[in-house]
Amino acid sequence: MSQLNLILLGPPGAGKGTQADRLRDDFVLPHISTGDILREQVAQGTELGKEARRYMDAGELVPDDVIVGMITDRIDAGDARDGFLLDGFPRNEKQADALKEALDKLGRRLSAVLLIEVPDDDLVRRLAGRRVCVKNPTHIYHVDFDPPKHDDVCDQDGARLMQRDDDREETIRNRLHVYHSQTEPLIDYYDEAGLLRRFDGRRNPDEVHRHIRATIATLRLEDEF
Ligand code: AMP
Repeated sequence: MSQLNLILLGPPGAGKGTQADRLRDDFVLPHISTGDILREQVAQGTELGKEARRYMDAGELVPDDVIVGMITDRIDAGDARDGFLLDGFPRNEKQADALKEALDKLGRRLSAVLLIEVPDDDLVRRLAGRRVCVKNPTHIYHVDFDPPKHDDVCDQDGARLMQRDDDREETIRNRLHVYHSQTEPLIDYYDEAGLLRRFDGRRNPDEVHRHIRATIATLRLEDEF
């Protein structure tokens, strides 16, 4: 397998971002998170950011045409030509079809879809306690499960920690509803395509990481022989 074109699928709070960070280092792949890209646009106050924010704060999906254009450009950028780790995209069948079409045009195909499964009640507890660094949103903590050494201060760079607007309980419930109604059908979509691999996201992040890493290593081996 010359390329590793991977999707991380799962509900909000399943740990996709955490796993993506680790896999990026293991396999030297760019981590492409639509949520992070959108939050950056919001922070910069761009037109796209202003439009996206309304949907994000309500826990709704940003319109497909905005997202699809953003991603099709990104997967054809230099650092993604040998593979990528998509996190938070696709989120519905229309986006999945658009991704397939874009990859077909480039003569590429998906290697696997990594599904991280976690029950709703656990997700609400995880998301409501999540805190992120204002300076670097990949520095993530949890008030109960992974607290910083000093309350509300990032261990890594001393910046303030904050709660994401969309991690408030009411918004979380809506994000889960959107996941079940719009994103979950992708499980069957990719299972039928023979691409789906399932992981138990209730396990601790190290274990989940080991399982995923072993699965990708096996995929690579199978492809070589
Ligand atoms: P995330 O960090 O992946 O949970 O994304 C945060 C928010 O960004 C979501 O609740 C959506 O409003 C928006 N978003 C992220 N990815 C997508 C996508 N693929 N399609 C539509 N909206 C998205």
